[in-house]
Amino acid sequence: MTYTGGEIPKLGFGFMRLPEVEGSDGEKVIDLDTLCGMVDTFMDAGFTYFDTARGYHGGRSEAALKAALVDRYPRESFTVATKLPAWMAKDADDARSMFETSLEQTGAGYFDFFLLHNLGEDRTHLFDDWGLWDFLAEKKAAGLIRNLGFSIHDKAAELERILAAHPEMDFVQLQINYADWESETVESRKCYEVARAHGLPIVVMEPIKGGSLVKLPDAAADVLRAANPDEPLPSWALRFAASLSGVLTVLSGMSMPEQVQENVGIMRDFKPLAPAELDALAQVRAILDGIPTVPCTDCRYCVKSCPEGVRIPAALASLNILALYRDEYRAQENYDWNASAGPASSCIGCGTCESVCPQHIGIVKELARAAELFE
Ligand code: SF4
Ligand code: SF4
Repeated sequence: MTYTGGEIPKLGFGFMRLPEVEGSDGEKVIDLDTLCGMVDTFMDAGFTYFDTARGYHGGRSEAALKAALVDRYPRESFTVATKLPAWMAKDADDARSMFETSLEQTGAGYFDFFLLHNLGEDRTHLFDDWGLWDFLAEKKAAGLIRNLGFSIHDKAAELERILAAHPEMDFVQLQINYADWESETVESRKCYEVARAHGLPIVVMEPIKGGSLVKLPDAAADVLRAANPDEPLPSWALRFAASLSGVLTVLSGMSMPEQVQENVGIMRDFKPLAPAELDALAQVRAILDGIPTVPCTDCRYCVKSCPEGVRIPAALASLNILALYRDEYRAQENYDWNASAGPASSCIGCGTCESVCPQHIGIVKELARAAELFE
């Protein structure tokens, strides 16, 4: 597949964590001057893929993309991806209207890539119930979408089910990084293999696990330094994802100019990982596996049984991010995105979840810890 006249360079600019400054009323606003400079650095280095979404930055990311990119560069010189989050809509009309809002906010005229945003768990049925697959296929037929796909946070079996039902998809966006490659909760490798078995190209999200993979425990970082002292930690993560066949591009949510400079430096002369480097990453995975965490496999039996709708596995995942990477920002971000709709503090201690948990986790105690840390 070629876009904007050629292969997409394998680094994409995620507009999820943009630079901010204090506005006149004391509220945080997107720092457009800094963002324009970051976009210029990225474009000057030959990169072209920009990824935003209706919901990023409280709904302000798409307008920032217009101001920093669309209004400043010829339309054919870059590719725009955005996403429709049905789970943020109140009804079908509201969800459908998001497409027009995205067109208006980005000013892009058309979308090179358009995604049904964040399928999986209890979110997928909204896209089905509201006919959004057909609605977006019509937009593609009308020339407003060049490539239609979806992003998903769920297991490989669910990805397989959705792809079997929707062979019309052009691509998928998956969470892939070396730490989650063999994870029972994320199933990066299995999801990658499902997508490739369907012949689909893949856009990679979370290659650095939201920044956690630059905060490795010392023993793990030492393995990588010994294997290649000149290679910065983000490089291992970006190169791992970009080395996989069938990967269109690897997204990085960059929030400061230094990150853009470092990432374009790594990916401008991208070299796939050598076998010895892959061995080093396997050693890192073994070290991470040896760190005590809550042994949740994300099977979700507990979720089905909880009368209060507590998002148990998501809360436990935040505890594990903290244990593995000591990354408070990322753990909180995961909690806010994935657990806050059924917060740990709403647990009434009935114990039903513990009676069905195959891992025999002391869930009530762990939820109390999560509530204290993240709420
Ligand atoms: S103990 Fe708490 S989390 Fe577990 S099922 Fe009961 S309310 Fe839900
Ligand atoms: S039942 Fe246990 S292992 Fe399964 S998701 Fe819930 S806490 Fe995790």
